Amino acid sequence: MILVTGGAGFIGSHTCAALSEQGLPYVVLDNFCNSKPSVLERLARITGQRLTLIEGDVRDGALVSRVLREHGITAVIHFAGLKAVGESVADPLKYYDTNVAGTVTLLSAMRAAGVRTMVFSSSATVYGDPVGSPIREDAALQPTNPYGHSKLMAEQLMADLDRSEPGQWRLARLRYFNPVGAHASGLIGEDPQDVPNNLMPYVAQVAAGTRKELSVFGGDYATADGTGVRDYIHVSDLAEGHVAALRYLQDHAGLLTVNLGTGEPVSVLQMVKAFERASGVPVPYRIVDRRPGDVAAYWADPDTAARLLGWKTSRNVDQMCADVWRWQNGEARRL
Ligand code: NAD
Ligand code: UDP
Repeated sequence: MILVTGGAGFIGSHTCAALSEQGLPYVVLDNFCNSKPSVLERLARITGQRLTLIEGDVRDGALVSRVLREHGITAVIHFAGLKAVGESVADPLKYYDTNVAGTVTLLSAMRAAGVRTMVFSSSATVYGDPVGSPIREDAALQPTNPYGHSKLMAEQLMADLDRSEPGQWRLARLRYFNPVGAHASGLIGEDPQDVPNNLMPYVAQVAAGTRKELSVFGGDYATADGTGVRDYIHVSDLAEGHVAALRYLQDHAGLLTVNLGTGEPVSVLQMVKAFERASGVPVPYRIVDRRPGDVAAYWADPDTAARLLGWKTSRNVDQMCADVWRWQNGEARRL
């Protein structure tokens, strides 16, 4: 039985769908600080299965210990965390508490229960302002904000644990690039509560008429069209990467570190055009000043994931936009 912490969230819910597709059983632990219980009902419609939910906090060691024992957990996929860069600058303690202390609590409970397999949500943000792209896993790690520091600290504690008890742990550190998209069913997707910070949900809301125009942050970067460049990965591809990592850990003890990205650089304006094609609706935009702290361009070298996990992405930018548009216009988002 797999424990999915944060399984009601954006990436967690899609990973639950991917686990179900592979017939792998799991339970979800979530405190709903950034998701809604209705996600799990919609997930049950996708999977045709009743899901087991434990509502609670990953920082609650007694609860986590009980869940590990009572559900016969053998592996954990750890999504529960906070992810807003700006908020992490304003309230770093909150981020270290959830993202670092939460991971310490979880790993301590796992060790006590003899559960030694964990797949962890890290982020390309650990690379900070990269020297060059595509980025390989051995690139310098130099995060530039508390969110990134908290992810790097969690990565480091996994490495220290592996070193302290060699061969005892099976730990995967998955560095996600830019997750976007939604489930092809239109039943689950990304659901920001406030004004979206990220490009894709903002573009979707402009196309839907909820917002007037997109502010493109910077048109004078040293990129092909002057706008920022990222590696957008469909959340369902990302979800399948977690299943591949779990399978890899079944056969390999130790520490795995891999990028999960497409390896394809895409600019802001290319994404706007792709969204217009997918939706058939114009996306008005205006080029404004650069957003402080933004990096001009970065994308993944996805070769390690391909070599070790036998995994690569299969959904392109057009599919990412089409799935987001279906989700944006569907009934499910309002439930
Ligand atoms: P999300 O906010 O949609 O999902 C996180 C889930 O964890 C939510 O359901 C939330 O309610 C839950 N949660 C948060 N704190 C908790 C706690 N203390 N106890 C129990 N549950 C808790 O975010 P997401 O986009 O699905 O991200 C999942 C993970 O991936 C996070 O750790 C995030 O930092 C990491 N990540 C996300 C991105 C991205 O762009 N979305 C990129 C890289 C890494
Ligand atoms: N971006 C933009 N307008 C927005 C949101 C984002 O131009 O309203 C740009 C941003 O400057 C970056 C790219 O889109 O070049 C991706 O930004 P996002 O916040 O989605 O991801 P991150 O910056 O964390 O990689």
